[in-house]
Amino acid sequence: MPGLFAGSFLVNAFIFGSRPELAALISVSNALGPLAGVTLTRRFRPATGLFTRFRGVIAFLAGAVLLHGFLTALGGALAMWLLGAAPPQALPGIWSGWLLCDAGGTFYFAPSLALWLGVERTPSVPQKPGLRLLDGSVWLGTGLLALVVFQLDLPARLPSAQLVFLLAVPLSWIALRVSLRAAYSLLTLLCVIASAGTVAGHGPFQNEAVGNPMQSVGLLIVLCGMNVLTLLALVSERREAELRLAEANHLLERRVAERTAELRRLADTDALTGVANRRSFLAQAQAALQRDAGAGRPFALIAFDLDHFKAINDGAGHAGGDLVLRRVAECCMARLRRQDLLGRLGGEEFAIALPGTEFIEAQHIAERLREVLSRIRLPAGTPAQHLSASFGLALAQPGEGRLEDLLRRADTALYAAKHAGRDRVQVAG
Ligand code: GH3
Ligand code: MG
Ligand code: MG
Repeated sequence: MPGLFAGSFLVNAFIFGSRPELAALISVSNALGPLAGVTLTRRFRPATGLFTRFRGVIAFLAGAVLLHGFLTALGGALAMWLLGAAPPQALPGIWSGWLLCDAGGTFYFAPSLALWLGVERTPSVPQKPGLRLLDGSVWLGTGLLALVVFQLDLPARLPSAQLVFLLAVPLSWIALRVSLRAAYSLLTLLCVIASAGTVAGHGPFQNEAVGNPMQSVGLLIVLCGMNVLTLLALVSERREAELRLAEANHLLERRVAERTAELRRLADTDALTGVANRRSFLAQAQAALQRDAGAGRPFALIAFDLDHFKAINDGAGHAGGDLVLRRVAECCMARLRRQDLLGRLGGEEFAIALPGTEFIEAQHIAERLREVLSRIRLPAGTPAQHLSASFGLALAQPGEGRLEDLLRRADTALYAAKHAGRDRVQVAG
């Protein structure tokens, strides 16, 4: 505000030759008018930027342009009347001319300055690489066309005064394809060319049909400016809405993917023990067997069933039995290798696939598991103190790819172990 006051005072006192008290009074209104206008504009400025929303453009026009122009013109005219610098009947004319100048000036130059200085951000325009040359040519071509049009005295039969409003088309092109900043710079250039040409007595507005040539220049610039500002604000609003929609879609897709993964995990897992359920175990083991059969690697399968489990349930209750089942799964998982697969086939029967495992190693693993399980203490109320399990071990024949056959052989061996007295490992024949 002090800067505005000082600048206005210097211009009025030294360029327009006003008396100091008149220059001071005019400068007070030249400082307070913008203050009121900017306050109104700021009040409604969208957080994303003044020119990124239609609301922002309206706030700019209502505050920075119109309210500012209205108040400074009113203050200036009143100051001239109060200090006897103008008669009362001249005041309406002075006021309206002053309003046009101040509002028009702000309207042309404030957006360019704000955008060039980075005080306001240019609403984003999707850039298409490779079109820069074309866009640059349109920008320059429009400037050159305006130069030609406003320096020439066109033939009177051309409806040139109306046609010149078509300059709004390349301006919209630049606004939509390059940026609002580029469009506003072009508009400022047009404003300078049109004003200079018209003041010098050239251009389309010298027609008899045009009453006030400079007012027509103002109208041209205001219409073109309004056009690019509102056009880009609306496009920017739409683009932001599209971005929000794309983000929401992305989030939704991620949630669906997470939920699907969770459902898949639940569908593949045995709820009580957390190991693979029958269906998932069979599918994974079948795939592993096929891989090993194809690569000529060995593959072993262990099936085991807890001994006298009914007695554990009877003695310790179903919950006690569940606890034992969980403990069994934990103990096995702790001892198996990364590549091994453990699954609960049903009830108290489990199976373990041992990819790439030779007979001796598989037998060793089965024996070690039998020993580990036998160390599990049973809950109070059961006849035995320690758990035991019977194991059947089957080895894939070279090239054998059907898990079903291998499982059948392991099962047969398991039941042979039961018949032989339980708590042992039986190898399939
Ligand atoms: P064997 O030594 O011959 O294997 O005797 P067993 O008692 O273990 O044999 P059987 O297969 O007859 O009994 C298995 C019992 O396991 C019967 C069933 O009630 C019980 N059972 C099956 N699923 C569960 C479960 O999820 N939790 C509990 N607590 N018990 C289960
Ligand atoms: Mg059993
Ligand atoms: Mg059983």
